[in-house]
Amino acid sequence: MRADLEFLASPPADGRASLTQGADAAAWFLATELRKAGLLPGDGSGYLQRFDLVALHLDRDRSSVVVRHAGDEQRFAPVAVFFPDPTREVDLALDVVFAGYGITAPEFGYDDYAGVDVRGKAVLVFDHEPQEDDPGSAFHGTGFTLHANVWAKTWTAQQHGAAALLVVTEPINAHRSAPRPPDRANAPPQALAESELRIPRLTLPAEAATALLKGTGRTPGDWQRAIDREMRPASRSLDGVAVSLQAVNGTNRVQASWNVAGLLPGIDPRLRDETILVTSHYDHLGSQEGKTYPGANDNGSGTVAMVEVARLLAGTRLARSVLFVSFGSEEQLMLGSYHYAAHPLRPLATTRAVLNLDMVGRNEEHTPESVGAYEVTAGRSDQLNLVGAAYSPDLAALLRRESTGSGLTLSDKFDRDSSMRTLFRCDHLPFLQKGIPAVWLFGGFHPGYHEPGDTIDRLDFDKMERVVRLTVDAVRALASPSPPPRFRYPAGARITP
Ligand SMILES: [Zn+2]
Repeated sequence: MRADLEFLASPPADGRASLTQGADAAAWFLATELRKAGLLPGDGSGYLQRFDLVALHLDRDRSSVVVRHAGDEQRFAPVAVFFPDPTREVDLALDVVFAGYGITAPEFGYDDYAGVDVRGKAVLVFDHEPQEDDPGSAFHGTGFTLHANVWAKTWTAQQHGAAALLVVTEPINAHRSAPRPPDRANAPPQALAESELRIPRLTLPAEAATALLKGTGRTPGDWQRAIDREMRPASRSLDGVAVSLQAVNGTNRVQASWNVAGLLPGIDPRLRDETILVTSHYDHLGSQEGKTYPGANDNGSGTVAMVEVARLLAGTRLARSVLFVSFGSEEQLMLGSYHYAAHPLRPLATTRAVLNLDMVGRNEEHTPESVGAYEVTAGRSDQLNLVGAAYSPDLAALLRRESTGSGLTLSDKFDRDSSMRTLFRCDHLPFLQKGIPAVWLFGGFHPGYHEPGDTIDRLDFDKMERVVRLTVDAVRALASPSPPPRFRYPAGARITP
């Protein structure tokens, strides 16, 4: 694993930023290693799955939200824009419906879309979910449910026939605004040329929500308080309100990125069509402002651990098939795994579990964001987090069983914390959103995360070896003829307003 990392974190790989030669070199290297390990081509003929991306540079001069109400006209700059096709501009004039948190959750008996017709209209929603900071909330206490995510909200709006989604930060919230280390970088923004989401989403400033809701005689905060208190939707058509939405991306150049996939075919004729996925992402932040971000832990560690698991399992006779996939463009908000979930190499209907390895080579330590938010097991090499396990108690139990042999203790603390949004931050998410048991095996956050100091010399190879052992044992169990884990929504008590 150290030898593989010497390449992935090397100067020629240049931080492996999506749509750079460094990332492509990493993808070709991984394809070669999966082939050398003895896996079959993941897509039948090759080891690379292409997907198309467009760089995002919102043209601010040509992007606006205009709210018209009772002869009044107010213009706002969108905070952010999601383009279903970033090569085409958004230009829409629409009526508006307010739909609370924009959540349809039959498992809780809660539906912000009940009783309103949003077909062909813009839908205004709050981000996140009701009673977010309440440990007793039906929405999984202080943890997030999948409904709190904007991809899910956009999908839900689209399913209800909406033409656009307008999202505003919920006005009353206890979100932490901890100081950010000066060397922490973000990836240059990019978007899929073709997404499963077909409607635009515009993130609006708070004043725009106030203007949109003015005719109701209540403020956004009033509406949020009412919903959180009663746990009853307050959705309504905003009569007499119209919006004009305009958004233009500064480029329409389409470029290729890559997922890398290798297959270990199962041998049981009844089960070999079923798939266990072992995943990672190989991309990182590249070089920015004269600094290179080697990304040894994020996610060189999970990538080489995945390849090592493939080497150890290659040639073994397992009942179900195992597909190893290293995704590209995760740092651009999981574009490689979203593409895979929309264009799977093996059917999702018979994909039984996903084990995603990301940042498994360091021990967690407090960062400015985590102090006061959650406990860390500082410096402990035998400690690993499971993220998303709340959605499959079966898979969590299997991993706990298998962890005894690897000397790892597993924590689900990130499923009980919303401050770090951990549930929404990695490649397990698109699979959870498709109802597939999926967990992120995660060493935790640490100083140096998304900083130039994420270097090989800081890695704990003993820990990585334990993670590889756990993954090998878990895959053997998952690919055996035993019944596969089930997906289950972590439903609290049904809400009875
Ligand atoms: Zn990562």
